[in-house]
Amino acid sequence: RSKDAGGGVFHAYEPKLHAEAEERRLLEMALRTALERGELHLAYQPVVDAGTGQLTGFEALLRWHSAEFGNVSPAKFIPLAEEARLIAPIGAWVVRTACAEAARWPGHVRVAVNVSPDQLQDAGFVTTVTQALATTGLPAERLELEVTESVFMHEGTGAVRVLERLLDLGVRLSLDDFGTGYSSLGYLSRTRFSSIKIDRSFVQAAAKGEREALAIIRAVVALARSLGMATTAEGVETQAEHRMVEELGCTKVQGYFFGRPLPVEEARALANRRIAHAA
Ligand code: C2E
Ligand code: MG
Ligand code: MG
Ligand code: MG
Repeated sequence: RSKDAGGGVFHAYEPKLHAEAEERRLLEMALRTALERGELHLAYQPVVDAGTGQLTGFEALLRWHSAEFGNVSPAKFIPLAEEARLIAPIGAWVVRTACAEAARWPGHVRVAVNVSPDQLQDAGFVTTVTQALATTGLPAERLELEVTESVFMHEGTGAVRVLERLLDLGVRLSLDDFGTGYSSLGYLSRTRFSSIKIDRSFVQAAAKGEREALAIIRAVVALARSLGMATTAEGVETQAEHRMVEELGCTKVQGYFFGRPLPVEEARALANRRIAHAA
């Protein structure tokens, strides 16, 4: 295609394309050694009960501080890790690290871990989770795995079977970024999700008064309720947004209004403080 594209237009962009490809190559090389060099860590964002304001858990969010590139956003390096087939070892480290940390939190506080579709193509992930729970002593029901709708795009690829085996361990599943991807609802009735996470884009649009977004949130809340699932509103940044999603019936909330992703020690201190106050 590039050969017969011809003309000057294509060539004008070539240096830029080349520079981007080169940057990706260098990033990928750095990412290959990020784990062993100790450049990865997890930040923990509070998840709160919408009605009572009680802390219910934290979402573990991966952070990379590269010696060469500084802080790299997950929006950039997660897709790169997926393409470079690095997501399995990195994802396994995330599961082990998050379970070890959550085992030190007060009894009911959960940890949610994001899982890429590729990780579910490999039954080895079930072993990773089983071993992480056994080694750390974290009860399975305190681990929540977040997957996106894209997992269901290629049904029959084994991912659904891996999900079933994970559910059999007793872990919880939640459906992340709901409404941004694949639009078929069949899988919702066939997979035992504990909760649906409503993407921040809907929360923000609804807060601006967009009627379609409001209608979608209402519909998702009703659907989740009838299927016995919780709903988490993502990306709640203001008190007004909190009030809105609570009125819409969302059961949990997460966002900068309740807390940014925190360093591990701060998350632990917050969990302990919340318990002390509740007692
Ligand atoms: P996500 O799972 O939907 O995580 C929520 C993202 O929204 C996080 O971005 C979080 O920092 C951000 N966020 C939370 N509250 C607010 C808010 O009030 N306002 C705004 N503007 N943003 C908010 P982050 O940490 O940059 O992560 C981006 C995505 O990268 C995650 O989206 C997830 O899909 C992926 N990711 C992060 N950690 C992992 C991981 O360990 N494994 C995998 N496979 N993916 C991960
Ligand atoms: Mg998530
Ligand atoms: Mg999300
Ligand atoms: Mg997201």
